[in-house]
Amino acid sequence: MKLGTPNALDQEVKTPLLPDCDLIGETDQHLVRLFDNGPMIHPGITDAVQALRQKASNAGFDMRIASGFRSFDRQLLIWNNKALGLRPVLDDVGRPVDMSQLNDDEKVFAILRWSALPGASRHHWGTDVDVYDASRMPDHYELQLTTEETEGDGVCAEFHQWLTVELQDNPSEFYRPYVKGVGSISPEPWHLSYAPLARIFATQLTESVLREKLQTTDIALKDSVLKLLPTIYQNYIKPYQL
Ligand SMILES: [Zn+2]
Repeated sequence: MKLGTPNALDQEVKTPLLPDCDLIGETDQHLVRLFDNGPMIHPGITDAVQALRQKASNAGFDMRIASGFRSFDRQLLIWNNKALGLRPVLDDVGRPVDMSQLNDDEKVFAILRWSALPGASRHHWGTDVDVYDASRMPDHYELQLTTEETEGDGVCAEFHQWLTVELQDNPSEFYRPYVKGVGSISPEPWHLSYAPLARIFATQLTESVLREKLQTTDIALKDSVLKLLPTIYQNYIKPYQL
């Protein structure tokens, strides 16, 4: 590339692509803490998160982050515990699934309804956060991050009504990737993606990057996962590369 030519190539060079190890959550070297003991997030979303929290505060809410960055190893532990029956697997409406009645392929899809395949979680990038409103919560309330909490008389319902309008008004910042009618992952209204970066990282994540990592990982249901990877990629990853 010629130096000093302000063209599309220059833009390309500046694009903040993540190395594969960051993309699949092996490292957290690309991240910062939002505040002391706060969640780890990508430095490129810090200002936007703080601005959204301030707007929420102005509207009478106390927006907090339940989850920011999650590592590959953490996602692997969640996956393995669900596969081994050490952590409940829930169906579409939040009822526990009897995993003993399912074959291995069915178990994979049951887990994928609510949990990403390790390496494929958007929480690996630091661009995605799970948010909730603490302002309406009774003392000692234990956050569930369920759709019930976000609807009707749910504890975060008013906040989510406000958030829906806010996101529509500012579509270039945060958006909800997991909505009804897109892909096979259940809707997660609490999960926000920072569009300017997440859209880039989403397209970076290829099936071969994932396969390479999973082949050398001690993951439960490994044979089924590797066999089903093309289908998993098509239904649980690609639809969210928007
Ligand atoms: Zn999430």
